[in-house]
Amino acid sequence: MRTGHEIREAIARKQTSALEVVEQALESAGRLETELHAYIRLLPERARIKAREIDAAVTRGDKLGPLAGVPIAVKDIFTVAGEIATAGSKILENFRSPYSATVVEKLERAGAVIIGKTNMDEFAMGSSCENSAFFPTRNPWDVTRVPGGSSGGSAATVGAGTVPIGLGTDTGGSIREPASFCNIVGVKPTYGRVSRFGMIAFASSLDQAGPMTADVRDAAQTLEVIAGFDEFDSTSVDVPVSDYTAALRDDLSGVRVGIVAEFEAEIGASDPALAALYKAAYADLERLGATLVEVHLPHARYGLATYYLIAPAECSSNLARYDGARYGRRVQNGGDVFEMFERTRAAGFGDEVKRRIILGTYALSAGYYDAYYVRAQKIRTLIKRDFDTSFAACDVIACPAVSCAPFELGQKMQDPVSMYLMDYFTIPMSLAGIPALSVPAGYVTGLPVGLQIVAPAFEEARMLGIAHAYEAATGHARRREPPLAGAAR
Ligand code: GLN
Repeated sequence: MRTGHEIREAIARKQTSALEVVEQALESAGRLETELHAYIRLLPERARIKAREIDAAVTRGDKLGPLAGVPIAVKDIFTVAGEIATAGSKILENFRSPYSATVVEKLERAGAVIIGKTNMDEFAMGSSCENSAFFPTRNPWDVTRVPGGSSGGSAATVGAGTVPIGLGTDTGGSIREPASFCNIVGVKPTYGRVSRFGMIAFASSLDQAGPMTADVRDAAQTLEVIAGFDEFDSTSVDVPVSDYTAALRDDLSGVRVGIVAEFEAEIGASDPALAALYKAAYADLERLGATLVEVHLPHARYGLATYYLIAPAECSSNLARYDGARYGRRVQNGGDVFEMFERTRAAGFGDEVKRRIILGTYALSAGYYDAYYVRAQKIRTLIKRDFDTSFAACDVIACPAVSCAPFELGQKMQDPVSMYLMDYFTIPMSLAGIPALSVPAGYVTGLPVGLQIVAPAFEEARMLGIAHAYEAATGHARRREPPLAGAAR
């Protein structure tokens, strides 16, 4: 049993119990943890209580939620009432949240059982999970390699088959890039589609929560559960949630798929093996009935520069609240309150977070604000317009999710810019606020990579439907198992 929909079905039919499934997931998580390091914390007692509640509901014959009894893993950036949420940082090491994130509440109401909180780059800043203040997570396909980031723990544990569904966040690629590296499906919804309430903020105009799953059907099901308006998030949008599972399709006749000329030139020059893999993926789409059309995103090449002004600017403001007075850790030995702030922040934040705060504070400072922040916002608009123009000629865009296969631990740690470049193909969609997903597309030297499918705002149903047809026809993830597999399959 691999997917969430299969698990739910088996529980509903009383072929297994929620408790049995949860025990298996906990056993698998525990067994793999010495090599994978996917979890900051497992929540076995809480999980067993929730599983017993589901089993009682099954016995009573109650109507079951769409994720009843499905074990899930939640990135440690989301709050769960009564539990610690660290965001991968020492500064929140002891922060226990009094309330649950809206998405967590919705998942639990749908019957999902959280088995643990997953590792991540500190405050979601990174592409490898190596910026976690605690330990790096490994890739189940090769434990000497990174699982991607920042949602690396969720990607690794789903990739290893311990749980079928993980929750991640994506600000510039943090769901899609690790999903690609761990051979799973990862969806970044439209900005405003999913509530950010209870999700620890990195860059508020970009942050979105989304599912990281064993297959497209689980992604559709999970998104259906977590999407929707939330009065507690002022940027949540009141657009009805479509029936994403009903939109899943098996052929692509009549679908126009845009191929981005600038991206193809870029990947062709930088990684011929990867470029060949993506060419094969586009040919598969064509075989399924799609028509390929060339589209242009002339400003996408400025995406990285734009993102590294906007995201740090917003983070410098969001992270100002961690001062030792209100949340988590405090460092104080004599001195006044300002000394306390300084010492707390110096000890509590890691290098990458400090780098971003410095960059962002600089970009927002008087005299530089217009030259950097305002200019970046203008380019953001141009990038969004490129997508609007492209979508006049196509229904979805297909493009690379990553610019290389999973790399070795340590390889990019001394070179922040090469790490930033990991998100070259994912950042433009984040800046435009549009939905995008990564679906397994095959292997380069035995390591998985994902294909990115991008849709206009709030067209998640279309995007998932097309990804489903591709997945059903190619089945890249179904065909192979990672060396480090933990599921009872
Ligand atoms: N890797 C990018 C960064 O470091 C994106 C991270 C994210 O999407 N949270 O900012």
